[in-house]
Amino acid sequence: MRNKSAKSGRNNRPASQGHPGRKSGLSESERFEICVGAILTQNTSWKNVEKAIESLNRNRMMEPRKLYSAPLIRLSSLIKSSGFFRQKAVKIKRFSEYLLKKHPEGISEWFKNSNPEELRDELFAMYGIGPETADSIVLYAAEKPKFVIDAYTLRIFARIGIFNSPLTKGVVRLRRNGVFKNYHEAQKCFEENLPKDTLMYQEYHALLVKLGKDFCKKKNPLCVGCPIEVLCKKKIQDKK
Ligand code: SF4
Repeated sequence: MRNKSAKSGRNNRPASQGHPGRKSGLSESERFEICVGAILTQNTSWKNVEKAIESLNRNRMMEPRKLYSAPLIRLSSLIKSSGFFRQKAVKIKRFSEYLLKKHPEGISEWFKNSNPEELRDELFAMYGIGPETADSIVLYAAEKPKFVIDAYTLRIFARIGIFNSPLTKGVVRLRRNGVFKNYHEAQKCFEENLPKDTLMYQEYHALLVKLGKDFCKKKNPLCVGCPIEVLCKKKIQDKK
């Protein structure tokens, strides 16, 4: 099954890694796989995550009960390609356990009966789920409007002059201390200025990832030919 989570290549962050188009009305197993992908993608590229997802699917492990009961060492080895595999294996096991125990009605019903804010808070309270992971799950697995902020978004919006650089640095610094105030400020900026539209948020985020990967690279951005170069403060300043 193709995964649709944050960095994957479908509705989510997918554009970055190949945006195959929109689809709504996910199955139970698709939603679960997106959640697993959102955890696996922490601090790694989607390419590595895809290998881990393939490995889980090949071994018929992509089910909450199987992941919950799998020995940690086996699960770690199946997701090795994603990096930080021991911590991620624990996170996936905890997520699966939570789902089985707190939401025996299933992931689709759980998501259907939660509003985006409640769901986001519930996910964020879980072990190993940070704001970006929680928001990716809300946006791509639950298909509810929550704007995902990531390093690409912060970098691009700092360079074009909408977020200032201290905000970008602040997010990095504050995240290390486990405080996410600036993440939420950045998110508020999008959510207050865009209609609450799930598909638009998915597409918007996916396009930012693509722009960040193809043009607005961390070092040496490729400003010539960048589709938003006429709007960009950095580009305009560099020209002077
Ligand atoms: S013009 Fe350059 S700095 Fe500005 S958004 Fe595009 S790639 Fe990034």
